Parts: sequence; structure tokens; C-alpha cells
Amino acid sequence: MDRTSNIGRLEREEFDVLVIGGGATGAGVALDAASRGLRTALVERGDFAGGTSSHSTKLVHGGVRYLEAAVTPLDRAQFHLVREALAERAILLRIAPHLVHSLRTVVPAYSLGSALFYRIGLWLYDRAAGEAAIGRSRFLSRAAMLRSFPRLRRKGLRGGVAYYDGQFDDARMNATLALTAAREGAALANRVEATALLDADGRSAGARARGCATPCTGAGSTCARGSS
Ligand SMILES: Cc1cc2nc3c(=O)[nH]c(=O)nc-3n(C[C@H](O)[C@H](O)[C@H](O)COP(=O)(O)OP(=O)(O)OC[C@H]3O[C@@H](n4cnc5c(N)ncnc54)[C@H](O)[C@@H]3O)c2cc1C
Repeated sequence: MDRTSNIGRLEREEFDVLVIGGGATGAGVALDAASRGLRTALVERGDFAGGTSSHSTKLVHGGVRYLEAAVTPLDRAQFHLVREALAERAILLRIAPHLVHSLRTVVPAYSLGSALFYRIGLWLYDRAAGEAAIGRSRFLSRAAMLRSFPRLRRKGLRGGVAYYDGQFDDARMNATLALTAAREGAALANRVEATALLDADGRSAGARARGCATPCTGAGSTCARGSS
């Protein structure tokens, strides 16, 4: 990706889509738009994946924690979201095995109630994944837990539950999306901040932007103004 020539394109060309922000969302939108044949531009005021998209928990689609939101209280729409995320997890494992891998996690249980809660919840998680499951959850006895984790607090330990989730390299995936969008013809530039939207007949028709020698958000960044 050649930043200088892309900035030239941003100044000269007209685009169908302008994406502001080169995090995972922006880079994904740019890739989607460019691969559909839309003339696509993206500006990022810092660096690609410099924001939230490199600071996530690194579990594909947030992992099992969204299941809790689906069952307490029972929420059909949220459960549908969990199923969709699990199906996408399987797709990512297939198409990007260099960025996503399966992660075995073990949760200790210190009461019979929590052992039952985790066991049923994670069984439900397996069921929600269906064909897309990457491993079956299972109950581990107290002895098995202590064999694997000898330094675990012993008092009250009842056992544990092992389950599988997808772990990913969030920043690398963001960068891959940006590079693939560029390969599809999108013009992407980092250290370019959109400072205002330009109006034409009540509709946004472009943006004013400034390019910076350092991330535009940093104190003392050197920037030049422009619009496209
Ligand atoms: C604590 C935490 C844990 C998470 N864990 C997970 C997880 O395990 N799994 C998961 O799938 N998701 C997780 N998420 C959610 C996921 O990280 C976010 O959904 C995702 O990173 C959002 O990406 P984004 O592109 O919308 O935002 P960002 O990555 O923040 O990108 C926004 C970009 O826009 C740029 N920008 C803003 N204004 C301008 C402007 N005027 N001009 C140019 N550029 C601009 C910023 O510089 C920034 O780079 C987590 C989120 C949080 C907060």
C-alpha cells in the first residue's frame, strides 16, 4: 500500500464511499465496498488498528460471554446473535487459520451451583455452535483440576468445566482487512483525519481532511489541510 500515491488519489478522484476510521469496522466496510466494485476511500487519523481494534479481549466475536446476555434473562435475539457469531467463527477458522485458532479454556467451580451453571451454559454453547463446534465442553473432577492446575485454591473446589473458543490476532486481522481492501482498489491512507463533512443540497458529498506527519491525534502533530 503506497500512502503517498493514495493521498494523491484522495485529492484527485471521486469516490462512491468514504470510510472514516481504519479500525476493524472501517477496514471491513472498505473491503466489502471495494469488492462490490464501489470506488472506495478510507482515511485513518492514527494508524490502522491503532484504536480499540488492537485492544480487544481477542476472542472471535467476543466468545462465550455473550451467551450469558442471551440466557439471563432469556433473549431470543441475543441467542440468535450468539449462533451467528459461532457460525462466523467457523468461517474465520477455515479462511484465516494464520489469524484465528482454537483456545481451550477451563473454568474452576467452587460450588455445586456454579459447576451446574457452567456445565449447562457451556453445553448450550456447544449446541448453539452445532456443526460449527470446535470442541466439546466437559466437566472436570476436582482431582483432574488439581492435576492440571496444582496451584489452584483447594478450599471449596468442586471441579471445573473445559470448553473451546476462537482466539484471534485482532490487530493483524485489521491490517489484513486494510491490505485486502487496497488490493481490491480502495484508496487508504493513515495519518489523515476527516475534519468536516462537505454538504451539497443537504447531502454529504465529501469531506475536509488533513494529513499529518505523525498520528493526527498526537500532541504537536504536524498536519496539512485539504479536502476531497
Ligand atoms: C475491552 C474490549 C474488549 C473487546 N473484546 C472483544 C473480543 O474479544 N472479540 C471481539 O470480537 N470484539 C471485542 N471487542 C469489540 C471490538 O474490539 C470492537 O467492536 C472493534 O474493535 C471496533 O472497531 P472499530 O473499527 O469500530 O473501532 P476502532 O478500532 O476504535 O477504530 C476507530 C478508528 O477511527 C479512527 N478515527 C476516529 N475519528 C476519525 C476521524 N475524524 N478521521 C479519521 N479517523 C478517525 C480512530 O483513530 C480509530 O482508529 C472488545 C471491545 C472492548 C472495548
